[in-house]
Amino acid sequence: MITEKSKQLFEKAKKFIPGGVNSPVRAFKAVGGNPLFISKADGPYIVDADGNRFIELINSWGPMVLGHNHPEVREAVIKAMENGTSFGAPTAMEVEIAELITTMVPSVEKIRMVNSGTEATMSAIRVARGYTGKDKFIKFEGNYHGHGDSFLIAAGSGAITMGNPDSPGVTKGTAMDTLLAPYNDLEKVRLLVEANKDEIAAIILEPVAGNMGCVLPEPGFLEGLRKICDEEGIVLIFDEVMTGFRLARGGAQEVMGVKPDLTTMGKIIGGGMPVGAYGGRKEIMEFVSPDGPVYQAGTLSGNPIAMAAGLAMLRHLHQNPAVYTRLEQTGNTLVNGIHTILDKLGLPYTTNHIGGMYSLFFTDKKVRDFADAQTCDTGLFGKYFKAMLDQGIYLAPSQYESLFLSTALEKEHLDQILEANEKALKSL
Ligand code: PMP
Repeated sequence: MITEKSKQLFEKAKKFIPGGVNSPVRAFKAVGGNPLFISKADGPYIVDADGNRFIELINSWGPMVLGHNHPEVREAVIKAMENGTSFGAPTAMEVEIAELITTMVPSVEKIRMVNSGTEATMSAIRVARGYTGKDKFIKFEGNYHGHGDSFLIAAGSGAITMGNPDSPGVTKGTAMDTLLAPYNDLEKVRLLVEANKDEIAAIILEPVAGNMGCVLPEPGFLEGLRKICDEEGIVLIFDEVMTGFRLARGGAQEVMGVKPDLTTMGKIIGGGMPVGAYGGRKEIMEFVSPDGPVYQAGTLSGNPIAMAAGLAMLRHLHQNPAVYTRLEQTGNTLVNGIHTILDKLGLPYTTNHIGGMYSLFFTDKKVRDFADAQTCDTGLFGKYFKAMLDQGIYLAPSQYESLFLSTALEKEHLDQILEANEKALKSL
């Protein structure tokens, strides 16, 4: 495979951009080699600067649930562009998307649009603190909630991929208010709540984790958190930036049957445009300015182009529940196929899977928390990643990420992905 243009672009990029990239995992540091610079994407494919075409299982880290460049989203954006790109004033489209989201996600009674998942989680924590009058919150090791200061403590995703789950620049004072528990460990949460009685504003988590690889909540975990929050007056926040509109129209909370007080969203609600949102119970959201005292704002929030893309995407998902059956089937086909290969080759590796998300972990342990995920052989993952890339399959360049499926994957693509898996796993 010729990747000369990507190499040249990376060399130049490193002169002007830290590490040559605008988000760390993109640099391929964890897997070695040069990142590919992408020129376009369509359906299940992305094409790099040298014209190499790959079937890809990242889908812009989740948003492209219908595959890239979906005609309904593209046309909505082009149409919106004809009326100008930003007004900094309310629009009818914002009202429509807010109404649609509250229909699709019943726990969300009011919602505020922001520009990224990071903004959504930062704002949700601020509202939870304002509402409860308490300062501390609990997060789970290996969960990632964007790069807000108070979340960069035992953070997953790029933070762990780069080997710095705790970032310099976060003050001790900030870090002190973030309490940590292992994922799926209800007992540890109970102990933290007891030891910090009446001081905890919120518990925030990925209701299905995607940022230490894909890790599912064990039966009773989310229900247990709900109960603790109810008993102690703590705001339960589901960070559904990845899972929202991906696992079901109503996100992980619909699949798991547990209602949070607040939900943070991103990725899919922007249809590929930079959008995030936070919403939930009316009485909490009414603390947000200008209704209430908790300040939060954004010049480009509710941007008309972003809203047009998001609305087209959400309307499609709302009207086509078959999307989710298809994602589930696609996931089953891939993960069952991978298990057949692992069995055939006598390899002990583990998979986690739900709907259109899955991870293959290079460990023989069951992965139910961050410590389990860290038993993976990341060197071996790097070799696997490269062997897949050489066969035209583009995976997330880190063991600590989930893969994301789209409805653009047809049988021929799944066959190709499985064939590549067999060759790659055999070669390790
Ligand atoms: N929360 C979760 C669960 C995420 O997966 C991410 C990003 N992958 C974020 C928050 C941050 O979103 P963004 O990158 O849009 O700031």
